[in-house]
Amino acid sequence: MAALAATRNLISIEEALQLVLERARRLSEERVGIDAAFGRVLAADAVSAVDLPPFDSSAMDGFALRSSDTPGRLPVVHRIPAGTPAPRSLEAGEAMGIATGGVVPEGADAVIPFEYVVEHDNTLEIEHPVEPAANVRPAGGDIRAGETVVGAGARLEARHLAALAAAGIPEVRVARRPRAAVVVTGSELRPSGEALAPGQIYEANGMLLEAQLASAGAAVERASLVADEEAAHREALERGLDADVLVTSGGVSVGPHDLVRAILAELGVEEVFWGVSVKPGKPISFGVAGDRLVFGLPGNPVSVLVGFELLVRPALLALQGSADPGPLFERGVLGSQLTRNAVRDELVRARVQRLSDGPVVEPLAGRESHMIARAAGADALVLIPRGDGALAAGEPVEFLRI
Ligand code: AMP
Ligand code: MG
Repeated sequence: MAALAATRNLISIEEALQLVLERARRLSEERVGIDAAFGRVLAADAVSAVDLPPFDSSAMDGFALRSSDTPGRLPVVHRIPAGTPAPRSLEAGEAMGIATGGVVPEGADAVIPFEYVVEHDNTLEIEHPVEPAANVRPAGGDIRAGETVVGAGARLEARHLAALAAAGIPEVRVARRPRAAVVVTGSELRPSGEALAPGQIYEANGMLLEAQLASAGAAVERASLVADEEAAHREALERGLDADVLVTSGGVSVGPHDLVRAILAELGVEEVFWGVSVKPGKPISFGVAGDRLVFGLPGNPVSVLVGFELLVRPALLALQGSADPGPLFERGVLGSQLTRNAVRDELVRARVQRLSDGPVVEPLAGRESHMIARAAGADALVLIPRGDGALAAGEPVEFLRI
């Protein structure tokens, strides 16, 4: 009963995600050079400026010829390097040397590789027939001018950038970067490396959030660290509300020093929810101020890690118009038995092993939310749905790569 009462107003991860995504309105667009577009989300389809390849080109170092002239003896009348087409077309009974990527001359319909011919005194001996179109890459065989190379909503990776460059697209329309601010709360926290007084610990969440936000495409301000007192909170949170996304750490539970929600409310942030049925991360709060999104994550570093991946990263990607903001759960099987939480879905730090019949997700020891050092060894979060008893080794599970 106690557990039930305590969970009465918790919402599920799915509900929380839906409430967040409903409020993530797409940001405006800007044009950027593709050299600055890595990790950005395309706002409009990028269409090819050229046929690719732009001309029939040779797939091999060899000789261009007419397939109907083979087998036979053919004089080599010219040699075509990559980058300079032949000065004239190829006539019947002729061959031209050609480099990989060279323009297949008018009049030729095939290329025979060097290794399949004998050449002496500028004459080829070709013993076997060459198929029409052999070793010719037809113009437009990859993509045609005007066709979409990368669609709107794609987050640009290296392969996309290469395709855009090859298709003659030097600039793209992308969503502007969300501006993100981080406010870390806790009077016990000290920057890493400073001397610790009794009762103090090193601050981890500023680093964590700055890196996570940047990896989700945000332009991140340096995290500010504030003590558990109202004036400091008010000042830092007010400044943080200039950003598109404000993420706070700590101070969202029910203790007397947990001030974040009350002060956000004073500053006009409308709370959408507080409390998600997830472990770790239960006291997560989410609110809005106009189009600005405000995430209050609990202070334990693993709660920040998990809360960010479940809600904040998808929100940032949605703001940028991503076609698939995630979180993208994959399927695998559990490597060893895990007890379940009766009332909350749990995300357990794990390592994924790729075995021949699919991924096996091995939970790591140390499930508590303060254990960030242990979490450093994880490459995934495995979802253990709430329920009774344990999930046995070999059971199907879903996991999220981190
Ligand atoms: P809170 O959510 O503020 O009650 O914090 C929960 C726990 O997380 C406490 O043990 C805090 O000391 C710890 N904690 C809070 N913020 C941080 C932080 N930025 N880095 C490391 N630990 C933290
Ligand atoms: Mg605190």
